[in-house]
Formats: sequence, structure tokens, C-alpha cells
Amino acid sequence: MLDEQWWRKPLTIADFTLPDAEEVLKINPAQLAEAKSRLGFNAEHLGCSDVWGGEKGVFYFKTRIARSMPRDFLSEYLPEAHKRGIRVLIYYNVHWINIEFGKEHPDWLQVNKEGKIIDFLYGSGNSPCVNSPSWREWSFQGIEDLASYDVDGIFLDGPAYYPGTCYCKNCQEKFKRKYGSNIPRKEDWKDPAWREFIEFRYESIAEYLRDAEKTLKKVKPNAIIYMNSAGLWPTWIEARDNRRLMSYQDMLGAEGGFLYYDLRAQPLWKPGMTAKLLETQSSGKPTVVFIAGANKGWDEYLLTPAETKLLYAETIANGANPWYGVSLSSAKGPGVLAAGEMNRFIMGNTEYLEHTTSIAKVGLFWSKRTADFYRASIPFADFHPKEVKIEERKAADYFAGFQGCFELLVRSHVLFDIIDEESIKLENLRKYDLIIAPNSACISKDCADTIREYVRDGGNLVASFEFSRYDEYGVLLKEFRLAEVFGVKAGRGVFGPMMMDYMSIVSDHPFVEGVSAKLLPCPAFGVEVIPVTSRAIAMYNEKMPARYVRLPPLSKNPAILINKYGGGSCLYIAGNFFDHYNSYHNPDYRRMIANAVRLMSRTLVTLDNCPQSVEVTLRHQPGKCRMLIHLVNFTGEMTRPIESVLPIRDLKIVLHGFDKPRYAKALRLNMELDWEEVEQNVVLKLPVLQEYEIVVLESSRKPFD
Ligand SMILES: [Zn+2]
Repeated sequence: MLDEQWWRKPLTIADFTLPDAEEVLKINPAQLAEAKSRLGFNAEHLGCSDVWGGEKGVFYFKTRIARSMPRDFLSEYLPEAHKRGIRVLIYYNVHWINIEFGKEHPDWLQVNKEGKIIDFLYGSGNSPCVNSPSWREWSFQGIEDLASYDVDGIFLDGPAYYPGTCYCKNCQEKFKRKYGSNIPRKEDWKDPAWREFIEFRYESIAEYLRDAEKTLKKVKPNAIIYMNSAGLWPTWIEARDNRRLMSYQDMLGAEGGFLYYDLRAQPLWKPGMTAKLLETQSSGKPTVVFIAGANKGWDEYLLTPAETKLLYAETIANGANPWYGVSLSSAKGPGVLAAGEMNRFIMGNTEYLEHTTSIAKVGLFWSKRTADFYRASIPFADFHPKEVKIEERKAADYFAGFQGCFELLVRSHVLFDIIDEESIKLENLRKYDLIIAPNSACISKDCADTIREYVRDGGNLVASFEFSRYDEYGVLLKEFRLAEVFGVKAGRGVFGPMMMDYMSIVSDHPFVEGVSAKLLPCPAFGVEVIPVTSRAIAMYNEKMPARYVRLPPLSKNPAILINKYGGGSCLYIAGNFFDHYNSYHNPDYRRMIANAVRLMSRTLVTLDNCPQSVEVTLRHQPGKCRMLIHLVNFTGEMTRPIESVLPIRDLKIVLHGFDKPRYAKALRLNMELDWEEVEQNVVLKLPVLQEYEIVVLESSRKPFD
């Protein structure tokens, strides 16, 4: 008997993309299901159409929308999968149409502002528009037909808007009905109609999911549905807004584990960035990080086992379920075996992985508004033709600064969650001692008011650069919305670039403890502020007139300020500090923020004899006397892909302010751990850390309820 709400238990999801129709005729369903089962998968996305080169109406199940059905593979395969305890979600492509098929249905397709049909998706292909009634009808018909099978659910790959779309007849008419004007042709962020267009596209995608869910659940109420949603990156182009989508889906998943080309250019903790965002946005529903087995670009060439295990570890350590995808033809080899090893580890330890939640005391603010309305690069993905650089409107790159801040916190072994605009509510914020807002420039009045109240009531804030300098649509304000909290007045705006210039530490405040020099490189851009109640910790020096000249004196511009506000305090950095960290990894920058975190929030765990390249997260299971310390070891050989991880020996985990455990166990090592009590801290000794470890602590009291 398969139990209720199976998707709320730990999942290991496979996606072995089936080959084209000719090859599918040769597949033995029992052997295929058996191979997945042996690799430890308990769920899967199963493609049921010949999707090579885009959708063309060739399906492997009985449906009224099929032009041909070479084989009813689905009816043969489902019992084989279910027999082996594998849940089957149908991979349903709703974003990619074959060019020849598209010619028969021009009214389905996304169109750019020149009126040209998009025809180069993935190099060749059209993309359907969610506002096309005939395409909706066609795609919903397929969902309805799938629902008559014994499937466990449907995964929608898409829908999404392609860059520069959509100006099709249906979008134009719908937009005019809704807003009374034409879709603007020009990307003008000051134009209210352009903002409406951004909103229109988010809403259109959400409406499609709403109707797809209705279609499925009308026939099969127990089946689940979810779609390929947004990870941690700016989303206005593809127009997927997780918060809106959550009303209509049962899980939240995104491609946080897709690595493209030069791995050095991508954060080691990319899956964790997305997993943390999804945990915040999923309304308590399960989350999934999609991990591509291949080193993308080369979709048939697998990542190393070490990289594969780290993608899994990052996903699990941050509370998400892994989905592992490769094409069937490449579903063997060392990378896949590594995935299998991780799956079996998960399956052997589900009791420790289900229903866990983070207990971080620091919230890192991801402002979707700023990602949309300020300026932020959008990382490369297969869906975009190239990395999308936004026209130069503002000084800093919001996304780069956010990544820098994320990295700095991981490297400092800080426990933190990601929060977004919808989390900015007092009852949510109160669980955090400290909010960090790296250049969250565009925020609403409500959002600012809540943060002000949070600090006044005793919360702490680290903020940088243009935080709260714009409204939620990117319109520059006369004053920072949070000026009082920073303890400053706005001056004459942004200055820079400063590529060989300095700031000077002018105080011996504990924030600068351990900093190696008084004179530090300054961020490339500063923003002029006038202290009112705040005190400067660092000042900008005047700009260097040239290289190899006498150092200019201090300017009148403060660079770092501390302010008491009500019961809380604020460290405000008047420059694009975290962008700078992202580019140069300045150790003193990291030290200052690590000091700030230590001074402004409770420390729950520290790691001794442990390099920065180990990430730590701490989770617990509400209602149980149990804590889980996840350790992910990224220590490689100074480049990527990582071929082997260097083990860390004799690592000490120091827990602050917890009861003595009854029992401590390392799950990967499968051994009980020694611990001792040192100055009211519990010190655990881990003899060796390979790629990943979970340390379970059982105590006699529930630590966080
Ligand atoms: Zn359209």
C-alpha cells in the first residue's frame, strides 16, 4: 500500500531522457525500471514524447493530441516502476516546439517585437505562448489524457518566456484588454507600461499553471503537479515568480544544480543558493533542486564523481530533494554511480532527512524587486542564447554583489537562511538576530517600515550601498527609506569608479578586530552619505590622481558606519562592498563581516581546524529531540571541475549553548562520535570529513520547539 502524501518524504528523483522514437521501440521497460531502482531512485520524471529537436506530436502514450504513437510505452512501464517502489511523474514539455511542427501552428508561438517567431530555442526550435488559446487547449488535452493512466503526477518543463517576447496576437489583445494600451516596444524601465508588461508576463505564466493544475486534478485529484520554477537569479525575462506559482503546485523545484562550461565561473554552492531560496518560497511544500549530471554545454559528458556528490550534498544540506538528470545514453559511468551512492545514502537515512527545518539566526535578503528593477546580470542557461547583461542603469551588479555576500557567509561558517520580500514580516523576522541586505536597492515603503520596526525592536542590520534608495519600481528617491536606521542623510549620490583607491579604518571598534591594515582597497563605487547619528568606522580616501604618487588624504565621505537605532544596531557600508568581495575575495572584507555576524547574532556552531571551503548548515526536526549538522567539503585541488576532494582530519565541531547530547553519530562514516564539554560548549570530534557528512545529535530535550 503506497502511503498518503508520498512526496513529503525524502525523494531521489531520476530523469533519464529517453532517446528518439526509433530507439524507444527497443527499450525493455522492466530493465529500465530495474536500473533506476538499483541506483537508489525512488521517483522519476519520465519523458513520454519524442522531444529531440522539440515537441512534434510523437507520444509514447495514448492521447488525442498525438500525430503518431510508435508505442504505448507508458502503460508497459508504469507497473514495472511501481512494482519497484518508484513514483512516476510525467515530464511534460511545455516550452519547446519543433520548427517543422511549429510551421503548422504559427498561432501557438512566441513572437519578438519585430513580429518574428522565435525559432532558435536551444539552437533550433520555437517556444509556445501561454496566452495562445489553441496551444493551451492542445497542451491541456495531453494532460487530461495522461491523467487517465496510473501516473503519480506531472512535471511541467516550462512554461517560460524567451528573452525579448512576447508580442504575439494573443498577448497583444490580452494586454490591451487588461491595461488599455499596447505592449511597449522599448525596454524602458521608467515607462509604467513596461512595468505592466513585466507584471503581465509573470501573471500569464501563473495563470497557465493554475489551469494546468485544474485540468490534471479534475481527472486525478491525488496526482501532484509542479513546474520548472525559478532558482536564485533575476527572473523578469523568463517571468517565473515562485511566490505566485506556489498556489498551484505541490512542490517547488528549480535548476540550481545545472553547471555550464567553465565551472570556476560558477559558485561551488550554487545548489545551496537555490535550495535556501526555495525553502523560503515554498510555503512549507517540499523543494527539489534539479542537478544535471552533465558538464553542460556538453550534454552527453558527465561531471566528475566528486562534483556530482557535492551537488547532491549541497542540495540535501539545505533541505531540498535531489533530482538527477542525464540522457539515457549517458546514464552509466562514474558520475552516475556517484549519484547512485548518494541516493542509497539518502534512502538509508530518510528518518534524519524528512521534515527538517533550518535554525539559522541570520537572514540574507534576496530582493526580487531589486533583481528586476535595478541592474543585475543573469547567469548563462541553456534557455538564454547568452549571458544577459542588463543595460547600464545603475552602478552595481545586484546579482554579483549578492553572490559575493553569500560566498563570504559560507566561507565564514555562518548559518543563514535566504529571505525575500514576502518574508519581510515582523513575525518572520523575529526569529533572526541579524538581517543582511547587500545593496537591496529597490524596496517598497511597507518593506522598509517593517525592517525599521524590526531594528527598533532590537533586531540588527548589515546593509550596503544603495539599499532602500529606490522605490520598488527602481525610481530614485530623495532619501534612503532607511536613512534613520543607517543614521545618515543622503548626499550627492554615487561616485566612482575607483579602481586603485582606498578607504581607511578610523576606529578601533570590535567590527575591525583582526583586520590586517588600516588602509584597505575600497569598493569600485561609493555613495555619498552624511552622518547624523551614526559613527564612521572607515572613511574613503580622496581619489588617487595617478599611480605611484603620494597617498591622498581622507575625504569627507564615510565608507563604513555604525548606528544604534532603538534597541538594535545597523552596520551600513556606503559602497558596493559585496561586489568587490565577489571579484577579489579581500580577506579583510570577510573578516569585518564575520566580526559583525559574531557581534550582532548568537553563534550556534563554530568549526575548529577546518578550512573556509567547508560549508556548515544546522537543521532540526520540529517535535523531535534531534539536531543535524551538515558539513559539505569543497576542498579541491585549486581548480574545477574538482577531481578529488581533500579530506579534512580531526575536525572539531563546537556547539554553543546546547544541552549535552545523549548520543552523537556521523551518518556517512556510520560511527558514533566522541564529545566533551569545554566551558559549557559541546565539542564533537570528527575523525575525517570526505565530501559530505551529517552528524546527528540526540538530546533529552527538544532544542528549538
Ligand atoms: Zn504571446
